[in-house]
Amino acid sequence: MNGTDHDTIVAPATAPGGALAVVRVSGAEALAVCDRIFRGRGKLADAAAYTLHYGRIVEPAAAGLSPDADAPAERTIDDVLVAVFRAPHSYTGEESAEISCHGSQYIVSELLRLLCRAGARMASPGEFTIRAYLNGKMDLSQAEAVTDLIASSSRAAHTLATTQLRGGYSADLEALRERLLELVSLLELELDFSEEEVEFADRTQLRETMEQIDARIEAMRRSFTLGNAIKQGVAVAIVGAPNAGKSTLLNRLLNEERALVSDIAGTTRDVIEELTNIDGVEFRFLDTAGIRTTEDRLERMGIERTLSSITRARIIIRLLDATQAGDTIPAPDFEVRQDQRLLTVMNKLDCCPGRTLPEGILGLSAKTGEGLDTLRCALRAAVDTQALYHGDTVVSNSRHAEALTAAHDALLRALDGLREGLPTDLLSEEIRQVIGHIGTITGRGQITPDEVLQNIFSKFCIGK
Ligand code: GDP
Repeated sequence: MNGTDHDTIVAPATAPGGALAVVRVSGAEALAVCDRIFRGRGKLADAAAYTLHYGRIVEPAAAGLSPDADAPAERTIDDVLVAVFRAPHSYTGEESAEISCHGSQYIVSELLRLLCRAGARMASPGEFTIRAYLNGKMDLSQAEAVTDLIASSSRAAHTLATTQLRGGYSADLEALRERLLELVSLLELELDFSEEEVEFADRTQLRETMEQIDARIEAMRRSFTLGNAIKQGVAVAIVGAPNAGKSTLLNRLLNEERALVSDIAGTTRDVIEELTNIDGVEFRFLDTAGIRTTEDRLERMGIERTLSSITRARIIIRLLDATQAGDTIPAPDFEVRQDQRLLTVMNKLDCCPGRTLPEGILGLSAKTGEGLDTLRCALRAAVDTQALYHGDTVVSNSRHAEALTAAHDALLRALDGLREGLPTDLLSEEIRQVIGHIGTITGRGQITPDEVLQNIFSKFCIGK
């Protein structure tokens, strides 16, 4: 995998089943390869950028065989439209074409076979985006945002991906990197004049700048909790005594929002997590299999599962049964962390008309649906998306969060060094470490090892 190895690659870009399909071709020879099987008004290789060409895809007559007198020399596969992109103004930065054909699996596979025979090869997952990165069309964090965009299933996740894709995030990191580089160059200037014992970099000012940068890194790092929740779905645990109405509430929340039911890979098979979208944010209800089998599950297993979903949840709905609960509400018998929100909800209020609730407790009848909208608003309000919609940096990628943590640790070491009067060359080396960690996020100013690239791009789908 390197920037010069740009042979012509081809892959379907659309999922099977639609009326149309798009096949992408990219590489220095992309248009010449297409011309070998495309019959239109002119040659695609001569076409201007951003033009669309109608024509036929044909299987050229096999060389060496004299065609049967009756049989046509070329077999038409499909009528197509070809969009032409010229380097460097394409997604990959290379000569590229996108062939729109009819959405038949047979046509698509014939098209791929013919393009490969004409000189292209099948692309591996993410290879188009790898080329875009290697050709400087986007940095690594933007490339990663492409997969997030394709996977986004709520307004919030979509905003997260598009902000990152447009490079707002990269600009932030670049600004930090530049400030750090300035510090390093001041320190290194000092080294050049070491005989004269001058201090170009005022140590108090140096400390202040480093602390400001660390505050920025910390803010970005903290935003990962929100970013990750938005990307994966905000985890919610519904807990309460048997018969409090957990299943009824879950069904209400899911059905009324036309829920997507999904088995999330990687979790135990009988743990089903269900997703619902509330006002542009996806919520993920934990251990719903546990909720649904209250009656026949083993008690011990049930408790363990409930505790585990409480630990993993960002929001805990504690459901009380109005027909059982007295006027004083006991404190929950589980711990609520600072980063978690507890919503205490009194259910079955339809059985107790006129009952007044203590402050801070939401009323509900899962049976009639009364109070459901208020509960939904409370769930939504527990996720602060203000920053996200105002374009602030919100980190949603665990690789980035790890790099920010490493940058923060390195910066703390540099600050320690500064305090302890570390020699200038060692101090500058510590700051270079911070720059290195930040650089791994965007891949800019950094040699990104092949295995890191493989790891990032292997998560892509074919054709992207
Ligand atoms: P779980 O064990 O916590 O999952 O409770 P379920 O959802 O299975 O509900 C237990 C029983 O309470 C069922 O018979 C439900 O129909 C009933 N129930 C649930 N919510 C309400 C409610 O708001 N009002 C009334 N009257 N009954 C309810």
